Amino acid sequence: MLRKTLRPQDIIRKKRDGGELSTEEIEFFVDAVTREQIADYQSSALLMAIFLNGMTDAEQTALTDAMLRSGEILDFSDITQPKADKHSTGGVGDKTSLLVAPFAAAAGVCVPMISGRGLGHTGGTLDKLESIPGYRVDLSLREFRKVLERVGFAMTGQTAQVAPADKKLYALRDATATVETIPLIVASIISKKGAAGLDAMVIDVKTGSGAFMRETDRARKLAEALVRTGNSLGVRTEALITDMNQPLGRAVGNSVEVRECIEILRGESQPGDLPVLDLSIELAARMVTLSGLESSLDRAREIVRGTLDSGQALEKFRINVEAQGGDPRVCDNPAEFLPLTQSVFAVESPRSGFIVKTDSTEIGQAVAAAGGGRVRMDDQIDPTVGFVSEVKIGDSLREGDLLGRVFCGDAALGRATAARIQAAYEFGNARPESLELVKEVIAE
Ligand code: URA
Repeated sequence: MLRKTLRPQDIIRKKRDGGELSTEEIEFFVDAVTREQIADYQSSALLMAIFLNGMTDAEQTALTDAMLRSGEILDFSDITQPKADKHSTGGVGDKTSLLVAPFAAAAGVCVPMISGRGLGHTGGTLDKLESIPGYRVDLSLREFRKVLERVGFAMTGQTAQVAPADKKLYALRDATATVETIPLIVASIISKKGAAGLDAMVIDVKTGSGAFMRETDRARKLAEALVRTGNSLGVRTEALITDMNQPLGRAVGNSVEVRECIEILRGESQPGDLPVLDLSIELAARMVTLSGLESSLDRAREIVRGTLDSGQALEKFRINVEAQGGDPRVCDNPAEFLPLTQSVFAVESPRSGFIVKTDSTEIGQAVAAAGGGRVRMDDQIDPTVGFVSEVKIGDSLREGDLLGRVFCGDAALGRATAARIQAAYEFGNARPESLELVKEVIAE
């Protein structure tokens, strides 16, 4: 029931002026968002005020709790396997969910995955999966459970029943540049994951030029807040702080990222895909240990690797695609069922030297602006748009060597995107230090 005495504009004003919102005010706001009884411009104004002024620990807890309770908390206690999931704070070319879910499921973990769409310059698992012809991410709770029981993993988004407040606020944050702030990220992630009835979760907190938390200190703060909040809900939670200073793997976009994942599952990965595979194995192995299925992390890594080598993970993926309405032939011939634009624009190295830095946010934004992401909340994504990188930080190139290829149906936009991406690479005369993929592990 909305409290008539509270008014959105008073709550916005209080936060705008640096005040601390009460639990009642936060609950009023989340309730109003869930019932669609607050205008988008008022929600956006409050999000911006939170973005600019931050939140106290008490406000962050109240927001997370209210968003979690905005929908149903799913109960899979009748499923005997341990339930675990993984979530990323968002990156460029960050496609590990598509591998981690089949890996973990093939290793015996039940994975009820509630994911998001593209956010800011980062891609979203739901948008990527929808590139597969027929694939549905808008499953009813009954369908979600059925897929989970049959396959061992199911993929869905926030709905009117599950994390509805995040569904609305997530889309608004994407369109109003109010993403990169710890309280809103914690509330968003935990309200989805807390609703999924999990025993354990692993959070991949990205840091670097393509992450919402560019500096490791800020990423650590976010990781600690996520681990603390997850554990306080009774979900065993671990966070890995991982490198996002360059696109993860080779592909950035929607169809093109699903292609890369299927090629990896088929055992056809290329050297540039290795970071995606290594990180996915690590995240899935940690889900196996946190779930209690295996106590040794090394052994869990071997088990997960075995699901890839034996083809079990690919089979899991295939059955999931079919169960969620998609065409399973995508697993046999990803290039045919996940087409890219016919027009391709080469991105060439403007000089000789070592690649020393990459502005990954700029690469993500360039692909989004070419049609791979949204400008407005209701924009349609073009799954055929993307970028495939051929290089990594530390590579030595000569002028004119290929940095990668842009796929874009509009010639002027394609050329502009290629120029933007070219400018996102920085060159130097000395090889930079190599980047560690997993920088830290935060556990309680
Ligand atoms: N992932 C989410 O689900 N929410 C965020 O705010 C950031 C990443």
